[in-house]
Amino acid sequence: MNADVPNLPAKTRVLVLGGGFGGLYAALHLDKTIARDPDIEVTLVSRENFILFTPMLPGGGLGTSIRPTS
Ligand SMILES: Cc1cc2nc3c(=O)[nH]c(=O)nc-3n(C[C@H](O)[C@H](O)[C@H](O)COP(=O)(O)OP(=O)(O)OC[C@H]3O[C@@H](n4cnc5c(N)ncnc54)[C@H](O)[C@@H]3O)c2cc1C
Repeated sequence: MNADVPNLPAKTRVLVLGGGFGGLYAALHLDKTIARDPDIEVTLVSRENFILFTPMLPGGGLGTSIRPTS
């Protein structure tokens, strides 16, 4: 251990792996609850920068999800 570095309390680190439904909603929940605590660090690891909303996938493919309103 480096003697010049003060002995700060260790941060609690929460790692959410995967940015799918489970990971995204877990991260959103943690953001609203514990993530504002400066002693807690929440990190979401995702290989995508988007979420695929699977329930609308079949409708998107068939062109039935989007209905023109006028
Ligand atoms: C066409 C379709 C329609 C559906 N409709 C519904 C519905 O109407 N209602 C419903 O409740 N459910 C529906 N589902 C099911 C729902 O999509 C799944 O149950 C849900 O996505 C599972 O969530 P998950 O977080 O476990 O997995 P996922 O959402 O698949 O997320 C896993 C994530 O982990 C990431 N990942 C995996 N391996 C790695 C790695 N090595 N490194 C980094 N990232 C990684 C993936 O890229 C992904 O982002 C549907 C599914 C499909 C395919």
